[in-house]
Amino acid sequence: MNKVERQKEIQQAEELLFAGPQALGFAKGLFQGHFVADWVLPYPRIPAAQQTQLDKSLAELREFLDDKLDPVAIDRQAEIPREVIDGLGRVGVLGMTAPADYGGRGFTQMANCKVLEEIGRRCASTSVFVNAHHSIGIRALLLFGTHEQKQKWLPKLVNGEQLGAFALTEREAGSDAANVQMTARPTEDGSHFILNGEKRYITNAAIAHVLTVMARTPVPGSNKTVITAFLVTPDMPGFEILEARMPKMGIRGTATGRFALREVKVPKENILGPMGKGLKVALTVLDFGRTTFGACCTGAAKTCLQLATEHANTRKQFNKTLGEFHLVKKKVARIAADAYAMEAMTTITASLIDRGLEDYMVETAMLKVFTTERLWEAINDAFQIYGGSAYFVDLPLERMLRDARINQIGEGSNEVLTSFIALVGMRGPGMEFKEIYDTMLKPSRAGIGRAWTAGMHRLGATVRIPDVPVASAELGSFANQLGRLIWRFNLAVNRALIAYREPILDMQLVQERIAGAAMDLFASTCVLSRWDAELQLARRNGDSRPSINGVPDLFLRQSFRRIRGFLAGLKNNDDKALLATADSILKSG
Ligand SMILES: Cc1cc2nc3c(=O)[nH]c(=O)nc-3n(C[C@H](O)[C@H](O)[C@H](O)COP(=O)(O)OP(=O)(O)OC[C@H]3O[C@@H](n4cnc5c(N)ncnc54)[C@H](O)[C@@H]3O)c2cc1C
Repeated sequence: MNKVERQKEIQQAEELLFAGPQALGFAKGLFQGHFVADWVLPYPRIPAAQQTQLDKSLAELREFLDDKLDPVAIDRQAEIPREVIDGLGRVGVLGMTAPADYGGRGFTQMANCKVLEEIGRRCASTSVFVNAHHSIGIRALLLFGTHEQKQKWLPKLVNGEQLGAFALTEREAGSDAANVQMTARPTEDGSHFILNGEKRYITNAAIAHVLTVMARTPVPGSNKTVITAFLVTPDMPGFEILEARMPKMGIRGTATGRFALREVKVPKENILGPMGKGLKVALTVLDFGRTTFGACCTGAAKTCLQLATEHANTRKQFNKTLGEFHLVKKKVARIAADAYAMEAMTTITASLIDRGLEDYMVETAMLKVFTTERLWEAINDAFQIYGGSAYFVDLPLERMLRDARINQIGEGSNEVLTSFIALVGMRGPGMEFKEIYDTMLKPSRAGIGRAWTAGMHRLGATVRIPDVPVASAELGSFANQLGRLIWRFNLAVNRALIAYREPILDMQLVQERIAGAAMDLFASTCVLSRWDAELQLARRNGDSRPSINGVPDLFLRQSFRRIRGFLAGLKNNDDKALLATADSILKSG
């Protein structure tokens, strides 16, 4: 990438992500060697009044799903029956987080995640459909809509009478979401915008009544363009469905489609959020989507655990149940540990949104990458335990495997998000180092003062091992280990920044290890927080010496081992050989 492109990219990212001074979030804190305890301890709980409401909704939902949801039929017929969609609307799922004023349930993101976990346990097509409609489809309207827009659109969307979709992806704008080509030019009187272009891979495209569409608008007085979000309805002349249901491998019940807008006249009242801030709108919406993604993956991982346990306890070979073999035990234990961590991470990430942290992009990206990768492993492990039988369609595992494969690609591919986690996380310490470098090149009295402050700040974080204040004494050793690992992580980040400087922006193998360590630090924190809360609850219930739960214990051991591996890999790796081999293969075609 040349310098001008790099500058443009950085400027775009700055504008998108760093709107102004914000409270230090947990993930960004990790990169600076801090344990920002307030965001993660104590483990968040849904307020009692809402818990009662949630329990009622979950009971109603379970009854409905038991009765009406047939994931096998949905997969075979590649369609979610209207009866199921209507029922989901009736039990409130399609507007769970919408305010009661607009007909929704007013649930928090944490409570909504419990609902999505329940659906994710059973049918990925249905959970992706709900996500496309609620978590991203109407999210922009909920977050950025004016009162008039909400009043006009929401009531029918939250009860399922109408459906929503979120349309960002195009042929040229996949991972590179900022490269949207669809245009929106204002009419001469400024009352409308004329939209032209095509979108592809859009969930619910052909069944939605309202679509949040990203298109490029001109910047008055210049030849630049920016992205703006519009509410588009399929009854607008020029809206054309090119393919209603693209045949596909998994989540076959969802309607993934392509559509074109040809000279579609959209009133300016349908602009969502500020003009030119469509990317900000899109990324904020995806933050919510990634949180419920975590919940759906948690549900599916719990199903894997249940299936794996059942089979390991009943199938006999060599006169033993499969569960007696260590290589099977290893898989069962790992699924259990990961499912526990996925739930904890989803809960804490959702609580960051509910508690009003301004910037949780790194945490939601971590949650998405971590849970989708862990779920893929869990399904693969459960599949292996079932042996040949998993391959046949009378068991759910082949469907679950097909369904889960999209998770690592959709809503930001895991590669793009991994790089994002490392780069956004390193930005804080990186800027401080830049201050020091710049001052050394051009010394001035004020500059030296600033550099001194920055240097001391860096050093302060480097010499102090952060305190991880758990309430349960029996978790002290894990808390200390976590604190030490955060300290070592910060040291490794600083070393990488000093050693590589600006080229680190393109060094994805280094970024992958830094992001991997950061994700496991976050996951471990969430597990420790949840475990701490469980021990405290047991004490409050009169159990003075609660037994140690092996599941979080195992997760922490394995997670700490992975973190040490990532950090060791920063010094000892085969990156040069790997890159040279890839280059020679790619060149030879
Ligand atoms: C079933 C389904 C439903 C979808 N629903 C929606 C929807 O409702 N709304 C919507 O807007 N979009 C939707 N999408 C689109 C989805 O978000 C995109 O597929 C995704 O963003 C990836 O874009 P792409 O497919 O063009 O892959 P590409 O951008 O071509 O990327 C291909 C691969 O290249 C690698 N890669 C790309 N960039 C980098 C990089 N910078 N560094 C390292 N590796 C990289 C990654 O491995 C990536 O998987 C859906 C897609 C599918 C398949």
